[in-house]
Amino acid sequence: MKPRSQEKTALPALVVGAGPVGLYAAFQLGMRGVRPVIVDSLSFAGGQLAALYPEGVIEDAPGAGPVSAGALAARLEAQLAPFRPLRLYGRRATALWGGLEGGFNLETETGETITGAAVIFAGGAGAMRPKRLVAEGVSTVSTDAIRYDGAVGRDARAVAVVGEGPAAIDAALAAAPGARRVTLIHALPLRANEERAARLAAAAGSGLDIFQGAVERLRAEGGRLEAVEARGEAGSRAFDAHLLLVEAGLEYAGRGLTGLTPVADAATGETEVPGVFTIGGGREVVGGAGYLAAGFADALRAAEAAAARLAPASPRTLARLHEIA
Ligand SMILES: Cc1cc2nc3c(=O)[nH]c(=O)nc-3n(C[C@H](O)[C@H](O)[C@H](O)COP(=O)(O)OP(=O)(O)OC[C@H]3O[C@@H](n4cnc5c(N)ncnc54)[C@H](O)[C@@H]3O)c2cc1C
Repeated sequence: MKPRSQEKTALPALVVGAGPVGLYAAFQLGMRGVRPVIVDSLSFAGGQLAALYPEGVIEDAPGAGPVSAGALAARLEAQLAPFRPLRLYGRRATALWGGLEGGFNLETETGETITGAAVIFAGGAGAMRPKRLVAEGVSTVSTDAIRYDGAVGRDARAVAVVGEGPAAIDAALAAAPGARRVTLIHALPLRANEERAARLAAAAGSGLDIFQGAVERLRAEGGRLEAVEARGEAGSRAFDAHLLLVEAGLEYAGRGLTGLTPVADAATGETEVPGVFTIGGGREVVGGAGYLAAGFADALRAAEAAAARLAPASPRTLARLHEIA
């Protein structure tokens, strides 16, 4: 039988939140021989950096400024890659239970239970997700006819796209060549750069409908989407649609995690449950600072303490990066 410490380190550690702080915590876990499993409600990493201000310039990131937020997020991901993290994105963690002895269980909105030897919660300002469409009839449409996952692709059916930003425009342009009909419905003015505006104008000449208005109602037959009704300045119009792609930005789906207890050790972020840590933006509620540098320091201390809980003899080693690479 293996010594207990080795048994425990065979399980990965769970990091909730793929924001900058979660990514750096995952890197620091990797540096200590603990494989990270990263869970995020979004389908991509970077947290606020990638989702809210990718073009924004960060001046005060240690050793990396000035750098665009999107580029910093990409660097954090790349730095972590040699440790082969398991990325479980597109799922919001909802509940946590267990302990150091038997391992922790993390339940997600998608119905999975993910197990790990320790947990670092780096949930920042909260779980983000694509903004849901609010309109009459949404609940009567089967879930596979409304997509929020940014999946653009060709579909032979009639497609409606809702949104005004680059993601909505790209989705409409991608769908146009294969679909029977594509309608881009935007409540606010379109946000298209010159190149997108030119492509939209070309596509509009060959069958892409563009309508400014707010979606009011979805019409369905037995769960099958039939039409989208939207109200514009000149009144309401109905558009044939069997597939609806919603690209209306992001919203917060909730903050915290059932089963997560308050921080008990201010130095490491360890909560009242040994082996579970809260770090970064997620600690603001308990007095943490909203700076990346502060979050990175949290990440380092929590990863160190988590690794020590799992295998007290396993030191941090820079050589590990080179061994693995
Ligand atoms: C416009 C703007 C400019 C800024 N400029 C600077 C700056 O120049 N310098 C600076 O230091 N800071 C700056 N900040 C603050 C900085 O971006 C935040 O402090 C930082 O993003 C916090 O990182 P985080 O990883 O803790 O959380 P976040 O970036 O909020 O990431 C948390 C991640 O966790 C996910 N998540 C949360 N809960 C769950 C759950 N239950 N299940 C699954 N996933 C979950 C979220 O979806 C998100 O992806 C700025 C912020 C903004 C908005």
